Amino acid sequence: MRGIAGRTAEGADAIVLSGGYDDIDRGDEIVYTGEGGLDGNGRNVGDQELTGGNAALVTSQLEGLPVRVIRGSELQSAFAPSTGYRYDGLFYVEDHWHERPPEHGFLRYRYRLVRASDDGEMLVPPPPLPPDVPPRVPTTIQRLVRSTEVAKAVKALHDHQCQVCGSRIELGDGRSYSEAAHIRPLGVPHNGPDDPANLLCLCPNDHVRFDYGAIFIAAGGVVVDAASGVEIGHLRTNPDHHVGDEFLAYHRAHWAGGTGV
Ligand SMILES: [Zn+2]
Repeated sequence: MRGIAGRTAEGADAIVLSGGYDDIDRGDEIVYTGEGGLDGNGRNVGDQELTGGNAALVTSQLEGLPVRVIRGSELQSAFAPSTGYRYDGLFYVEDHWHERPPEHGFLRYRYRLVRASDDGEMLVPPPPLPPDVPPRVPTTIQRLVRSTEVAKAVKALHDHQCQVCGSRIELGDGRSYSEAAHIRPLGVPHNGPDDPANLLCLCPNDHVRFDYGAIFIAAGGVVVDAASGVEIGHLRTNPDHHVGDEFLAYHRAHWAGGTGV
């Protein structure tokens, strides 16, 4: 038993981790590989598709729906049960992306899941609070932690003007609002640096588009709409803010257009 229970429309009810895929299991944090692409002997023989359980997990992320996690004893992990299968609680899908591991070159979908707190609250970031507002509930910590001094500096350099669309959100009290987007995400398995070269100053809309791969930055700073392939502008630059091409390439490889660029 291994795989994803659920449908695209409703989201995934449960996933089973039981080895055979290159999942990463850190207990409260899991990087789960989608289903498909293997033959009966567990060899990588084809691309995975964003259908069935793989699409259901994306629905779970978009809708913020919890997923039951079940671990089997065959899982290569310190958190595997000694025998049989064990229900290990509710998790939320915090992120998904795609990649072609060089070992076999086939398209794989991957999902980062974070365990829900005991009261079932999401651990994934909720909508951001305005700047300088301290967290009121523990579940906001993850996002606010990421609003580091580095992020503040990048946002200040751009004076909160979105590097994609040029808009600036005025809060009405003299302050402006923007978000610092990590191009290559922090944390397992991406391990992007918290460095200005790995950050963009974006409006919330373009932050979401960028995080889901709805837009990506092609060579020369061209902003591309992933669905249509149309160039929609140029990344706004600031001479004091170098953006790393290697991070933009990583973003394109893992999110742009859902099937790789
Ligand atoms: Zn924008």
